[in-house]
Amino acid sequence: QPKKNRQSNLNSSLPNLSGPNAKLNVRRQTLLPIRKQLPIWSHQQEIRQSLRRTDVLVLSGETGSGKSTQVPQFLLTEQWCNGRIAVTQPRRVAAISLARRVAEEMGTPLGSSSPASRVGYSVRFDNSTSANTRIKYLTEGMLLQELLRDPALKEYSAVIVDEIHERSVNVDLILGFLRNLLTTGRHAREGKPLKVVIMSATVDTEKLVKFFDEGYKIPHLGSSESPVQSKFISTVYVEGRQYPVSINYLPEPTNNIIEMSLKTIFQTHYKEPLPGDILIFLPGQEIIENLERQINELAANMEAEVPKMLTLPLFAALPQAAQQRIFQPAPPRTRKIILSTNIAETSVTVPGIRHVVDCGTVKMKYFHSKLGLEALLAKPISQSAAIQRKGRAGREAPGKCYRLYPESEYVKLDRNTRPEILRCDLSQAILIMKARGVNDVLNFPLLDPPPQKAMEKALLLLLQLGALNGEDGSINEIGQKMAKLPLTPTLARVIVEAAKPEMDCLEDVIDVLACLSVENIFLNPATEEKREAAEAARKDLFRREGDHITLLSAVRAYTSERTDRREWAEQRWISHRAMQNVMNVRKQLHAQCKQLGFLSKDASLRADSASFTALDERKTDMIIQCLTRGFLFNTAALHPDGSYRTLFGKQTVAIHPSSVLFGRKVEAIVFSEFVFTTKAYARGVSAVSLAHIDGLL
Ligand code: ADP
Repeated sequence: QPKKNRQSNLNSSLPNLSGPNAKLNVRRQTLLPIRKQLPIWSHQQEIRQSLRRTDVLVLSGETGSGKSTQVPQFLLTEQWCNGRIAVTQPRRVAAISLARRVAEEMGTPLGSSSPASRVGYSVRFDNSTSANTRIKYLTEGMLLQELLRDPALKEYSAVIVDEIHERSVNVDLILGFLRNLLTTGRHAREGKPLKVVIMSATVDTEKLVKFFDEGYKIPHLGSSESPVQSKFISTVYVEGRQYPVSINYLPEPTNNIIEMSLKTIFQTHYKEPLPGDILIFLPGQEIIENLERQINELAANMEAEVPKMLTLPLFAALPQAAQQRIFQPAPPRTRKIILSTNIAETSVTVPGIRHVVDCGTVKMKYFHSKLGLEALLAKPISQSAAIQRKGRAGREAPGKCYRLYPESEYVKLDRNTRPEILRCDLSQAILIMKARGVNDVLNFPLLDPPPQKAMEKALLLLLQLGALNGEDGSINEIGQKMAKLPLTPTLARVIVEAAKPEMDCLEDVIDVLACLSVENIFLNPATEEKREAAEAARKDLFRREGDHITLLSAVRAYTSERTDRREWAEQRWISHRAMQNVMNVRKQLHAQCKQLGFLSKDASLRADSASFTALDERKTDMIIQCLTRGFLFNTAALHPDGSYRTLFGKQTVAIHPSSVLFGRKVEAIVFSEFVFTTKAYARGVSAVSLAHIDGLL
């Protein structure tokens, strides 16, 4: 934000007591006593004073103790705080719902809805802030984006890094950049104070203190200050309110999580009195939606005297309004059943939970270094995650936790979740560093430095994508452009390729990538009969070029639908919700491409029309060429035995049954997703010519 806007922040900090703000103010007054009861409230002075003394505060406290909502408000009135406060979150759900909550608590409108708003949020594809925003909840990725524009984060007086125990790659990078800004890079702040708060439910305080301490010990460049020890770092612990929670294990491992979940949920529902909602942790959206359907079918046949069930799913791709529903109390004589991914583990506190069902797995990004591919895999959780999950049952009264695995398996789990940086593809992390002026990436401060080999591998991918200069590994123009897009290097490369004037297909490529960045558009009906019906209804959309062009044709057909888009989608077993997300992402990508000069300033978002038929072969060819430029590592050629093998790594992959190319034999394929279930599958597949791939090598 421009400087002059920051000046006016200070004048607008008093809530208006009449006019349209009166309602907001009433709400603020109602919430105040609730806030005062949060365990963190009694630590307010300690927190404020720590930060007057030191630069860094490591704050640990139970989930629900009030860290994410209260700490930024505590800091707002501190004398050193004349800029903004950033609060980073690993998930967009949390960033948005926290901003909404804190805006209410402060009696201010949310985000971009009013120029007077003092609380906003910024998540990928959705920036909702005003010139007067003082507290900004943002995803970790967005803070890293801001570092491109404002490398010393001069707009901010404080950065609060929340949920650090999740240890995403982005949070590790943020810690490195912040350490540099507080120590060796201090001069870049031009004397403006910067305070850093690191918060978490379970935090390895000692490790963090040591990490920052090491930074302070490096002699400050460009500053006369001498190296000093931990007088810069303080720690505070906030105790939680926790009632005892009993744990029940299965006697034997199960291979049918759905059935076991159903059994546990219905037994609990019949046996346990109200109030007392059930929270069940599941690995992903697909299983959540599947279980939700089955619960609803069974619940519809319950005897009239049994209380009702209200199922509420909770996962990252769910739209805001649906997420917000979990905070509302259950209607009378009704039990809420919340089906969640690990979002509800620490990110979002759901009130009313007395029973937790823990299936013991979580979906995590894993990098197969042998395959050179990244995949989301359902993996066993760590013990600390299991303990967090259990804790959700004991927030308001004694509770019960049902672990859908035997105790003998629990003791074998890892104690803590392995940081993502040790198990993911590092190319995005390295591109982020390079674009922010860190050339010597091997020496960037990281809490858990990955093996050098993994770093080198990622550098190689970036070189292959053409993002770095061959001689010295510095970032080049293509790399800079890629880094400005909030996408993985692969997807960003696709956009940069499509932005070349001779390609002339950027808008179509945006539509395809928008589909790839949301959940599945094509729903998968449960029964064979329905599957056939769905297939028939979608027939017009299927394109022989493959899944990417099929997605594009779906977007085009959807956007040209003028009467009832929801009905159109439902008739075809297409997720209307996913399509709405696609529309949103495509709008944002479109705006970003305009901003970067990839699209002309007056390019308007194609509403769509007869262009459905205009998808000629030349066009689809260009689109697939662009995809191949980015997904070069995800190409595979047909072998005489009928299998496909990746061109890099020579691994066998099969075309996923959900693909329109399933069962077809084409010379070569390019795929956008790699899934590993019973075997290695390519999902999101297009046919491509070998000659074309050769041309890129
Ligand atoms: P922590 O960061 O320590 O986990 P939070 O500050 O997120 O705690 O939450 C404190 C309390 O505020 C929670 O117990 C919850 O009841 C309430 N709260 C947080 N977010 C929302 C929301 N979006 N809607 C309603 N209540 C919320």
